[in-house]
Amino acid sequence: MRVYADQAATTALGEKAWAAMEPWLRSHFGNPSALYEEGRAAREQVEKSREITARLLGAKPRELYFTSGGTEADNWALRLAAEAGARQGRRHLIVSAIEHHAVLHTARRLEREGFFLTVLPVRENGLVSPEELEKALRPDTALVSVMYANNEVGTIQPVYELGSLCRAHGVLFHTDAVQAAGHLPIDLSGLLADLLSLSAHKFHGPKGIGALYVREGVQPERLLEGGAQERGFRAGTENVAGIAGLAAALEESLLDRERKDRAVRALRDSLEKRLLEIPGSFVNGDRQNRLPGNLSIGFADVEAEALLLYLDMKGIAVSAGAACAAGALEPSHVLTAMGLSAPLARSTLRISLDETNTRADVDYIAEVLPAAVARLRSMAG
Ligand code: PLP
Repeated sequence: MRVYADQAATTALGEKAWAAMEPWLRSHFGNPSALYEEGRAAREQVEKSREITARLLGAKPRELYFTSGGTEADNWALRLAAEAGARQGRRHLIVSAIEHHAVLHTARRLEREGFFLTVLPVRENGLVSPEELEKALRPDTALVSVMYANNEVGTIQPVYELGSLCRAHGVLFHTDAVQAAGHLPIDLSGLLADLLSLSAHKFHGPKGIGALYVREGVQPERLLEGGAQERGFRAGTENVAGIAGLAAALEESLLDRERKDRAVRALRDSLEKRLLEIPGSFVNGDRQNRLPGNLSIGFADVEAEALLLYLDMKGIAVSAGAACAAGALEPSHVLTAMGLSAPLARSTLRISLDETNTRADVDYIAEVLPAAVARLRSMAG
């Protein structure tokens, strides 16, 4: 028996996504840039998928650019906003301290290239404060980047409020919606964001395909030199099957969303309740403003990585809230930014569920984990 409880890392390809993709991998293999029938069919599929995706996000099709995933969309968003700012003499960037490395490392790189960077702290519950953001804004601020929902603790930021604040100050606002897309409402027709990133493999689409939304009026800097694909801004033969899969997966994931969320939330809450009975356990992040399937839970005096490997042997896939950097186990930058000590951050597991998980999955985790924690504690003690 295997229980997959790492849906925030990636998800299995959905049936609808696979059905949408399969023809474009086999029988309909034309290059969308070709002028003959096979090429025209592939072009039509790309543009139809762009229309579907745009409609689901409240965007215009010409505001969406397909990318190789969330990382590329984040890199591109920061770079194009920085360059647009620099053209107007604005060289200050603000990102939150709990961004994904795709945003944080790009921001650090832009800093090395001569931009000024403010890394905005978060509160203990993982939330960015709009007041703190307002204080950090400067006349030369070009961009603010705050993620919609965090990938470790699941905390949902007040992005609509942050977006309108930035709009009022004439500053571009980017949100990394990689964890949010397919799960939380995204309506780009309002004041949400000027730039938004998403990635298909987080909502049962294929890996290696994502999109960047660039609001009309914001000039997209050319990302890749070459052919004229993506209106000349991102060269390279389109990933036709991936694009078809992204649109189909997004459509499918938004169907009946509220019912799915209620079911996932009930599973997560019952698991949380049972795991909190383990002595020395604690939950990270805001308990209200949280993705329905996310549970960031720590067990004092237990190394999360050892726990993860133990659970793996028992057939359970979860994640540790820490990344292994250069052979040393670095505590998660997200948890430490929320004020957690390094030992507590290192004792944190991320369990992430979605509508493909069952009551039996949760029961099994709740059965195995307490014994695993006790076992590791007795070995350490
Ligand atoms: N941003 C967030 C919040 C993520 O969770 C991830 C995925 O791990 C990414 C960006 C990167 O997306 P991708 O794996 O598509 O490059």
